[in-house]
Amino acid sequence: TGAERATTGRSPQARNGIRGDQPYGAPQLDVPYQLNTNENPYAPSDTVIATIAADVASAATTLNRYPDRDFTALRHDLADFLRSESSVALDPAQIWAANGSNEVMLHILQAFGGPGRTALAFTPAYAMYSEYARDTLTEWTTIARRDDFTIDLDAAATQLPELAPAVIFLTSPNNPTGTALAPGELRAILDIARDLDIDGGPALVVVDEAYAEFRREGTPSALELLADYPNLIVTRTMSKAFALAGGRLGYLAASREIVDTLRIVRLPYHLSSITQAVARAALKHRDELLSQVAALRAERDALVTWLRGLTVNGEPMTVAQSDANFVFFGKFEDRHAVWQGLLDQGVLIRESGPEGWLRVTVGNREEMTAFKNALVKELGL
Ligand code: PMP
Repeated sequence: TGAERATTGRSPQARNGIRGDQPYGAPQLDVPYQLNTNENPYAPSDTVIATIAADVASAATTLNRYPDRDFTALRHDLADFLRSESSVALDPAQIWAANGSNEVMLHILQAFGGPGRTALAFTPAYAMYSEYARDTLTEWTTIARRDDFTIDLDAAATQLPELAPAVIFLTSPNNPTGTALAPGELRAILDIARDLDIDGGPALVVVDEAYAEFRREGTPSALELLADYPNLIVTRTMSKAFALAGGRLGYLAASREIVDTLRIVRLPYHLSSITQAVARAALKHRDELLSQVAALRAERDALVTWLRGLTVNGEPMTVAQSDANFVFFGKFEDRHAVWQGLLDQGVLIRESGPEGWLRVTVGNREEMTAFKNALVKELGL
């Protein structure tokens, strides 16, 4: 048949740079304890479900029409949320959103990266940044963090002018390490970026605050620097603290000029009416949803303390300080064996970052007990 002929004939080849690559993604395995993608363990309550269902039903009455392309009401609600969370007043015109902060960052590189331009991150960093660069034909480069995962500002001061990146990704709290940037570090990078000359403008600094709501008391958000730096973008997501990973809603705050530029590259109507309704419904319940953040922070701190008390091969376990909802620990001679040993006991965590390290998402009490028991057994402690 024709179909059979098609499968035996020559296949079109993907372009250079894509050919042979594997799709990104952590394994989605059906195991009792899924602690590998930094999801929030708390499913929506009946109250939240009821609001989402009612608001989606209301949005469904006009599904024959395209959604509000500029998601005006949602931008208003997000600005309102940031004002209450970080005490930073923003105009809704300074907010941009898309299907997860993944798409927000793709928009950023579609507009500010591209052929002839470079994007940069301080590694270890979130693995997707290099993929947004690949997908937008942007050159990709990195500067290594120190062994304790802090940023070497002297190295940054000499290398950034040489590398001349158009876009610099800073992640705080960082994934996979969990460590937060000190405010002085962020300002130092912003100052260097401001002095670079990228087609007559400064370099853009993107502070990825996907996990910002989990930061400890007293750590400021980069949102506070928006008024001082027109070259700053702060991205956030509803996937983590808001426990809305399935809703796919990420957003950013920046100058109006930057947001207006992003509007040029987005697909028309990229945020469905349903997505907008779900996100707004969740925002109505922000007090309830964010109250669970405190419990997760407490579980995180307890987990860090517990892990630091363990000894592996005669050495105390190394555990990175975490301002996020996950913990980075090691170092193991054979991390894959430890990962597999936990998985065999129904606990799925993540092999991430430099060789020897593992990352575990902070879950509820039961999940943490299961993780600890499995680790003790695996390490023969
Ligand atoms: N940034 C960081 C640092 C992340 O860890 C993640 C998700 N793992 C994202 C962005 C993307 O999240 P989402 O697309 O769900 O908003």
